Amino acid sequence: MVRLIKEGRILDPSLGLDLVGDLLIVDGTIRGVAPSIEYPEKVDTISARGCLVIPGIVDIHVHLREPGEEWKEDIESGTRAALHGGVLRVACMPNTKPPNDSPEVTSYILEKARERAHVKVYPIATITKGQSGKELTEFGRLKEAGVVALSDDGKWVSDASLMKKALLYAKNFDLPLISHCEEPNLSNRGQINEGILSAKLGLKGIPFSAETIAVVRDLLLLKETNSYLHLAHLSVKESIPFLRWAKEEGLSFTAETCPHYFTLTETEVDGYNTIAKVNPPLRTEEDVQAIKHALKEGLIEVIASDHAPHSPLEKEVEFELASFGMIGLQFLLPLSYDLVRQGFLSQQKLLEYLITNPARVIKVDPPNFREGSPAEVVIFNPEKDWVVTEECILSKSKNTPLLGRTIKGKVEAVILGEGVFRL
Ligand SMILES: [Zn+2]
Ligand SMILES: [Zn+2]
Repeated sequence: MVRLIKEGRILDPSLGLDLVGDLLIVDGTIRGVAPSIEYPEKVDTISARGCLVIPGIVDIHVHLREPGEEWKEDIESGTRAALHGGVLRVACMPNTKPPNDSPEVTSYILEKARERAHVKVYPIATITKGQSGKELTEFGRLKEAGVVALSDDGKWVSDASLMKKALLYAKNFDLPLISHCEEPNLSNRGQINEGILSAKLGLKGIPFSAETIAVVRDLLLLKETNSYLHLAHLSVKESIPFLRWAKEEGLSFTAETCPHYFTLTETEVDGYNTIAKVNPPLRTEEDVQAIKHALKEGLIEVIASDHAPHSPLEKEVEFELASFGMIGLQFLLPLSYDLVRQGFLSQQKLLEYLITNPARVIKVDPPNFREGSPAEVVIFNPEKDWVVTEECILSKSKNTPLLGRTIKGKVEAVILGEGVFRL
């Protein structure tokens, strides 16, 4: 089967490619990029006029909820949502039930993914057994089983000496550690950002220090161990100067944020809106601006969704009882594209943050348009508006404060190997 994508703006950050033209795919493999391609035989032509033609997005922070919480999401539904968002590879966090802390759970996830996933799935295992923060998992065996990274996401490894040991072991096994930066004694039972709004609503706040103290401790341990660390979902302005310090020190780290931390503020939870309850919490406008500037400065260089599905069972309850998290796979690209519209990032830079940098964190080759690479192609119309409705959310869970709102930027089609999905 021959497919020709015509007249798109073709961008590939891994090749530094940026041209208006055609992309040729033969039998699921990239066969050429040029200003104009004519093919002698009959071909399936896909018009990309006015659209960006980009490699698939790599989202390294996704909760697929399988095994154990399949009423919220499973590998099939989560990866279907990913496909519709132009996310063609996902790394799934290990805080499932049971948690992915053994090669057996890793194998189960990989087997399920082989049977049912719509996009490539990379499992992440826990740093500590049962995420208890007490005893390290078997890094070597987990790597052999196929994990690409280790994280106790949802929890911080509070014991500094254990985290130091983890950083040293991870270096030996060449496995990246991902830290959920949250000092639990400071965030203890907190519900939303600590400030005027938490006082007004009478909800316990989560102070900026809960994140920043964790960031600083982890960076100090990193300096001492000369290892590598990825900092997940940064949300507060106070964390940023320490990233700058770590860059100046030449530490080997990457920092991540999520679209909700640069597009939404804490005002979303006003009126006790549990749908906007997320961890770390939505912060203030000042924090949103600081995160955008940190992206511009390259201090934060990975954008991930932290897709965290929850059903009404976990959300339509009293605020204190509601679970933390919101879905994000289908909004990752359109919301992130706001950074281009607002002049914070170039198109190429944004694609580095969404494709090549996250791939580098988990040490895989990014989707790309080199001749001979498998087709992992996304056609994205940055100008098309769409209204977020329950029907267009492919995830089993619909927990997003964006319901009913209009979003700019839509994935129009995905070409994945031999398959084409016109969305
Ligand atoms: Zn987390
Ligand atoms: Zn998470």
